[in-house]
Amino acid sequence: MKIVVVGAGFSGLTAARHIAVAGHTVVVLDKGRSSGGRCATRRIGAAVVDHGAQFFTARSDEFTAQVQQWLSDGIAYEWCRGFGAGDGHPRYCGTNGMTTITKHLAQGLDVRCAQMVFNIERNGKSWRVRMDDGTHIDADQVVVTCPVPQTISLLVNTELGIPDAIRTIEYDKTIAALVVVDGVTAVPAPGGVQDGDSTFSFVADNLLKGVSPVRALTLHCNAAFSETHWWNDVTVTHELVMSAARDWIGDATVVEHQPKRWRMATPRTTWPERCWSKDGVVLAGDAFGGPRIEGAVLSGLAAAQRLLDY
Ligand SMILES: Cc1cc2nc3c(=O)[nH]c(=O)nc-3n(C[C@H](O)[C@H](O)[C@H](O)COP(=O)(O)OP(=O)(O)OC[C@H]3O[C@@H](n4cnc5c(N)ncnc54)[C@H](O)[C@@H]3O)c2cc1C
Repeated sequence: MKIVVVGAGFSGLTAARHIAVAGHTVVVLDKGRSSGGRCATRRIGAAVVDHGAQFFTARSDEFTAQVQQWLSDGIAYEWCRGFGAGDGHPRYCGTNGMTTITKHLAQGLDVRCAQMVFNIERNGKSWRVRMDDGTHIDADQVVVTCPVPQTISLLVNTELGIPDAIRTIEYDKTIAALVVVDGVTAVPAPGGVQDGDSTFSFVADNLLKGVSPVRALTLHCNAAFSETHWWNDVTVTHELVMSAARDWIGDATVVEHQPKRWRMATPRTTWPERCWSKDGVVLAGDAFGGPRIEGAVLSGLAAAQRLLDY
């Protein structure tokens, strides 16, 4: 069978790997310049900055087994067991940044980046995936792992009868700042602060965390702040964020700072099953498996299984 997977985040790459191992031809398409999706690592000079997902936890047996494999492969490490007082549960990260893991998942797969899928339509009993550059790929089955509003817009003419509870899933936004500094910041060991004040849901010191050779902060504004300021002038909002960031920058000197915005950061509701499918189209992603990396991986696994059983 020929399969197209839309989205090269944790969910799409996990699904693609399992489908490829089962002996099928898989093409993964992503509009981004590189794979990873909401798991993203940016280099700013010598700094390495995780600016999407910061870490992951493992709650299920399936994902714990996967994480153990990543640990023994040397592509992940245990960062800490909680922030502040700690709660004893391991927080894991990708070695040299979170995208180390998605790059590892992409190895050996036919992953095509900078490929914006424009729509997906029926083609007899199979599917035609059209790109915005006018090209298309025909596939026997399709796995779609974009954030749900994007998935729905790709499938608008297919009459698949996607349930309203999926169609209406909305996402919280995240406004972020990436700040390279010189000197010691006010972020305490182990380098992460969760809900530390009224602006930020997470502040990370990427040096203390162990991914950056130089000090650089990732500051994620909470959902309320991000919603309030999303439509305001980006420069004005970034100045506001930088002003709130002063408490965490402490006495360090700012070397460089950049704004970053995640329009669809976290699904507010999720579908109760790990994927949804009809007629050879499987919908997956963290809106199905749960709003975190573990959920995205479990959804990708479920999508592959659903497709192979079809
Ligand atoms: C700021 C932030 C912080 C987070 N922190 C954490 C954390 O600390 N721990 C945790 O576990 N989780 C965290 N998360 C959530 C985690 O990142 C996600 O749950 C997970 O990465 C989702 O993976 P996915 O594969 O489902 O979706 P995505 O990673 O979003 O992948 C979907 C892919 O589809 C592609 N795509 C979309 N439309 C098209 C199109 N038309 N054509 C082609 N490609 C398309 C996108 O480019 C994207 O790469 C965070 C998320 C954000 C945004």
